[in-house]
Amino acid sequence: MNGDVHKIIEEALPLVVPSEEEIRKAKDAEMELRRRLDEVLKNYPHLEYRFLGSYARNTWLKGNLEIDIFILFPEDTPKEELERIGLEIGKSVVDEYELRYAAHPYVHGIVKGVEVDVVPCYKLKSAEKIKSAVDRTPFHHDWLKDRIRGKENDVRLLKKFLKVAGIYGAEYKVRGFSGYLCELLIVFYGSFLEVIRNATEWTRNTVIDVPAGKVYRRKGEFFVVDPVDPKRNVAANLSLDNLAKFVQICREFLKRPSLDYFVEREPEIPSDEIIAEEIESRGTGLCAVVFKKPDIVEDNLYPQLEKACRRINDFLRRENFLPLRAGYFANESKCVLMFETQVGELARIRRHEGPPFEEEEHVERFLKKERKYKPFIEGGKFWVYVERKNWKVEDAISDLIRRDWRSMGKNVGEKLKEGFDVLTGKDVLKVEGREFRKFLVEFLCLK
Ligand code: ATP
Ligand code: MG
Repeated sequence: MNGDVHKIIEEALPLVVPSEEEIRKAKDAEMELRRRLDEVLKNYPHLEYRFLGSYARNTWLKGNLEIDIFILFPEDTPKEELERIGLEIGKSVVDEYELRYAAHPYVHGIVKGVEVDVVPCYKLKSAEKIKSAVDRTPFHHDWLKDRIRGKENDVRLLKKFLKVAGIYGAEYKVRGFSGYLCELLIVFYGSFLEVIRNATEWTRNTVIDVPAGKVYRRKGEFFVVDPVDPKRNVAANLSLDNLAKFVQICREFLKRPSLDYFVEREPEIPSDEIIAEEIESRGTGLCAVVFKKPDIVEDNLYPQLEKACRRINDFLRRENFLPLRAGYFANESKCVLMFETQVGELARIRRHEGPPFEEEEHVERFLKKERKYKPFIEGGKFWVYVERKNWKVEDAISDLIRRDWRSMGKNVGEKLKEGFDVLTGKDVLKVEGREFRKFLVEFLCLK
């Protein structure tokens, strides 16, 4: 399905622009919400509410409607009061709700079949003096509101393009592009196609200085200057690898434009037999550490999983297992830390370094020690073979976790202390579910 890039973009529009019916449903919910908010805010005359986020700017993606409402509190409100009253108001205006957690706890609910977030924040004079990240949102909206007009569908195309690539969203689980970043890029470059064209030249040192209207390079990180707070990098949560991924798909899209870039598809997953065969035949060490998921929000969980993963992988490198890749996975109940090494089983012995021959006292002490093997001299130093404590990668990992769970993130560490399983080789397929298989296939780089 290749073709001219303009034609493809034209064909993609119906996939990203909400239908009349979706828009009507949204308007209905908005009117109902305004009625309810006006009513309950009679009891709180010092507060106001605003519709912000993508609904308020008409930039939400078809099928992904969520109305973001912010309750603005005076600057001198104690944090506890903001949280308590924020939740009270949120609960009273939605039909059913659950509590969610970002900078503050907030209410996520449903009104007339539409998803709604009710988020409390401070009303401030300048975005440079914010108390928490959500306090910038009203400034973001005010900056974007007029500038994005006429370009709403370009924002939607970009969001969809990113979503299909798995890099839409700034949350830690994704580490991709936030909605606000998408809108800034569209304002800066003028259209979806111009974002894509320019992105092919981005580097890890690119700075997109939105308020100054300039792009330049500066050693450090990919940086998109927030026009409402120039010290802040709007792309701070975009990982280097997801930046690289984006640049590459932009190049590929321009070379071979296709509607496929706008269609979310479930990947085809090879059968367990085929995956097992591959695992057996590649001769690597493959380990999955499986444990209970701690009951914490994703933005807290994923950094901890990453930390635990890195600790274990660094250890495997030091212990000469020659790690290939490490990764992590979580579903509703379980977490998995995955490791693949070039060596699954090391020799039973390793060489232990002793003193140089010149240091008589040290040498004497080294040689007096009771040992299984006779020391030898190499390069003017004494050496001796010692028996390795753990020669199998799974035993080495288990041993490390039992000794060092405290360094693996607070909640993840505590769960690991309570217990874990280590599955090896094709037994990693004992972890159930399609989501895990998708992860595993990516992890093993299977086509
Ligand atoms: P989408 O179309 O994906 O809903 P959006 O722009 O509405 O895009 P949301 O994630 O719904 O993005 O967030 C709405 C606004 O709330 C954002 O513009 C952002 O400024 C603010 N916001 C949301 N989550 C956070 C957070 N965790 N920290 C700070 N600000 C946030
Ligand atoms: Mg939103």
